[in-house]
This record gives sequence, C-alpha cells and structure tokens, in this order.
Amino acid sequence: MECIFCKIIKKEILTEFLYEDDLVVAFKDSKPIVPMHILIISKEHIESITELSDKHEALAGRMIMTAKKLANKLGIAQSGYKLLFRVGRNGGQEVPHIHLHLLGGGQMSENIRVV
Ligand code: AMP
Ligand code: ZN
Repeated sequence: MECIFCKIIKKEILTEFLYEDDLVVAFKDSKPIVPMHILIISKEHIESITELSDKHEALAGRMIMTAKKLANKLGIAQSGYKLLFRVGRNGGQEVPHIHLHLLGGGQMSENIRVV
C-alpha cells in the first residue's frame, strides 16, 4: 500500500498546501488536536528521523524554518507553539513518512509519560 503523504505530494489525495518549496510541503492536519495543527512533510519519502543521513541536513533545517515562518504567518509566533517529531513505535509515529507537527492556538498541557 502506498504512503498517504506521498499521495498528498503527488496530488492523488487533494489537499490544500499552506506552503510548498523544493524540499517540503505544509498542510493542515485532518484531525487537529489543537486549534492550529499543521504538518510540514518532506517531499522525499523518508520514514522518520531515524532514516536521516548527513545529506538531509538542509531538509531538517528547512522543516524547522518552515514551521517558524508558518507560525509567524498564522499569527501564533508571539503566543507560542510546539514543534513535534514523533519517531517510531515508542514515539507514537503513525504515518511512516517524516513530518513535523506545528501545534498552537492555545495553551497546551505536558502529558509525556510512559504508558
Ligand atoms: P503521527 O502520529 O506523528 O504519525 O501523525 C500523523 C498525523 O497525520 C496525524 O495527526 C493525522 O491526523 C495526520 N493525517 C493522516 N492522514 C492525513 C491526511 N490525509 N491529511 C492530513 N493529515 C493527515
Ligand atoms: Zn511517503
């Protein structure tokens, strides 16, 4: 079965892009957990942070800088936000295509614990 985020990049699943460049695209999460929930994903299919190599340094930087710029554009830079990379099973990653969550629009709880 093909990767859902690759389908979004190839426009096989129609999704409005908030941002696109040569390395990344950004769009709204379909099941937002906070008022402002954006995903920044790589155009290249890479499963997770674990699969990154030194050649991906520019991509890693671009993902974070894109989140920063979108936070500014969406008006949540001053109030604050979270950036979240889930990695693998223990990290709770569900879609095996690297993505950065930009979460904002309200005060968030810290609920990180081992279950
Ligand atoms: P993660 O648990 O870190 O792998 O997060 C995957 C995220 O992708 C979840 O927040 C999902 O709601 C989101 N997601 C899955 N499919 C889509 C889709 N077609 N469009 C937008 N977001 C999606
Ligand atoms: Zn993919």
